[in-house]
Amino acid sequence: HRKPFVGGNLKMNGSRAILKEIIDRLNPLKFDDHVEVAIAPPSIFLDLAHRSVRKGVNVAAQNAFNCTKGAYTGEVSPEQLKDLGIDWVILGHSERREIFKESDELVASKVGHALKSDMKVIACIGEKLEERESEKTEEVVIRQLRAISEKIDDWKNVVIAYEPVWAIGTGKVATPQQAQDVHLIIRGWLAKNVSEKVAQDTRIIYGGSVKGTNSAELAKQLDVDGFLVGGASLTEDFIKIIECFI
Ligand code: 13P
Repeated sequence: HRKPFVGGNLKMNGSRAILKEIIDRLNPLKFDDHVEVAIAPPSIFLDLAHRSVRKGVNVAAQNAFNCTKGAYTGEVSPEQLKDLGIDWVILGHSERREIFKESDELVASKVGHALKSDMKVIACIGEKLEERESEKTEEVVIRQLRAISEKIDDWKNVVIAYEPVWAIGTGKVATPQQAQDVHLIIRGWLAKNVSEKVAQDTRIIYGGSVKGTNSAELAKQLDVDGFLVGGASLTEDFIKIIECFI
């Protein structure tokens, strides 16, 4: 069955000292048989994180470009991440889509390139508040998913993160039922459009105001295979969230 996955997205937060505190809390924890864990620090700290984590704690980048190298000031390629020993990358986060204007097409091409470069991808999708209120959640989430899926040949290195934009950083977590409903839609789409096996094997994780106090209920949902944690990944709460799966 699917091994749960918990990612900590530090976003543009932290310092070397804060990162060290986070890793010092993670390293002693014995979760390897139960849950896969990754932390995603800002790119300048990736090397430090990679050198500091014990075996079994993964490090993820928060972004990567869709080319190997070249004149792309400010960007980092999957090949460069692999050179550091980084295996995971978050792509299509709503903050990338919104603030940095990444289109479905750009996100999809980044996913395709990262997978071809032998990276593992946490691909993020999710609707905005006005889209949910106008009952477009399914349409938006599936549109984003379809774009990504067109660039994926092998799903074994893909985790889907469902992150409703209205729940990110707002303290307004989706109810367990709201999360389950969308996760089931995503899995159903995979079953119909990719394969039953991919639908059963692919981890679909939830993100958006996950805390130590709400993670256990969310984790009980049949199609919630873990979390992508923002704010709480900076605190001791992250350990509690991981412990939901131990
Ligand atoms: P918060 O947990 O801070 O709401 O952020 C979620 C998120 O965007 C993780 O990628």
